Amino acid sequence: MKSILLLTLAALLSVGCDSQKPTPLYELNETAYTFGTLVDVTIIGVDEQQANDAYTALLEDFSYMHNTWHAWQNNALRRINNLLKTGANFTLTPSVFPLIQQAQALSKQSENLFNPAIGEMVALWGFHSSEPDEFAIPPSDDEINALLNAAPKMADIDVEGLNMRGNNAHLQLDFGAFAKGVAVDVAIEHLRELGIKHAIVNAGGDLRAIGQHDDRPWHIGIRDPRSEGIIAALDIGDGESVFTSGDYERFFEHEGKRYHHIIDPRTGYPATGTRSVTVIHDSGAVADAAATALFIAGADNWQRIAKSMSIEHVMLIDEQGIVHMTPAMAERIEFLQPPGKIRLSE
Ligand code: ADP
Ligand code: MG
Repeated sequence: MKSILLLTLAALLSVGCDSQKPTPLYELNETAYTFGTLVDVTIIGVDEQQANDAYTALLEDFSYMHNTWHAWQNNALRRINNLLKTGANFTLTPSVFPLIQQAQALSKQSENLFNPAIGEMVALWGFHSSEPDEFAIPPSDDEINALLNAAPKMADIDVEGLNMRGNNAHLQLDFGAFAKGVAVDVAIEHLRELGIKHAIVNAGGDLRAIGQHDDRPWHIGIRDPRSEGIIAALDIGDGESVFTSGDYERFFEHEGKRYHHIIDPRTGYPATGTRSVTVIHDSGAVADAAATALFIAGADNWQRIAKSMSIEHVMLIDEQGIVHMTPAMAERIEFLQPPGKIRLSE
């Protein structure tokens, strides 16, 4: 009799606990098309309701940021772009200003290789639309030279108090190389605020993670720039992000040559010599900007730019398929098959 009572009590207690305690084993796995890409989200360690609420909040964030920062929509950024060209003073916009400020600093550190002020050049190449025209042809040298001579850069934007002013009639902001990084940072910070400790937000291969996956670190693959497959894998620490820039993301071919979407601001042409660059950093925004800048810097100059941007983990795959890495990256990365040639330097 006594043991039956105890059992009943234990059963009641455990039912009582279950209804209050989050189920640690629940795992939310969702994919949404937002921010111009497929975003995969995994959230674990909280109950289903909390995970779903956090996911909904995250989608709202992404949709707001995409609409505000998209370079070619009628939005806050378009208003700023129209005003910057005029040279007049105007009141800065809180929804875009933090991006401009951070982009100015990163642009400077990258010797202007990361240069979100070259929106006109990006448009000239046709990479401003969501779906680039696969039959596009390169612009004329005259058109490219006109913009090279104007040389718009982030430092052409003056900020004083709440006022902003552009000093170059060809300034046009395009945050395509950077906004995804900022968005992933915002998403992760918001998840943290909502009490989520273990999650990964993966926007088309560019990602940031917090916590870990059960009792192991988050484990991710890095795409092979010349196949649809994975070239390497790595474990990610709490709060780290991994961003890759590649010549395979957006491009068109003309007379047998590939013209891709990462433009070297010094030549006005797609950067040559690099297939992809992968960067690990605590900030998604910094990792995104750095991946683009180091792609343009190429096999001979990435070390200098990585240093000035304080990036310790870099892997660059050049046009011959040679893998260039910092020793710190070499320690982290596991290749699926040993690459032909590896060059370590920092
Ligand atoms: P992805 O978006 O494929 O991850 P990136 O982060 O390298 O690649 O961003 C490329 C995009 O950034 C281009 O589509 C264009 O909008 C913009 N862009 C191109 N060249 C530059 C540059 N030198 N500096 C800043 N932004 C650039
Ligand atoms: Mg980038």
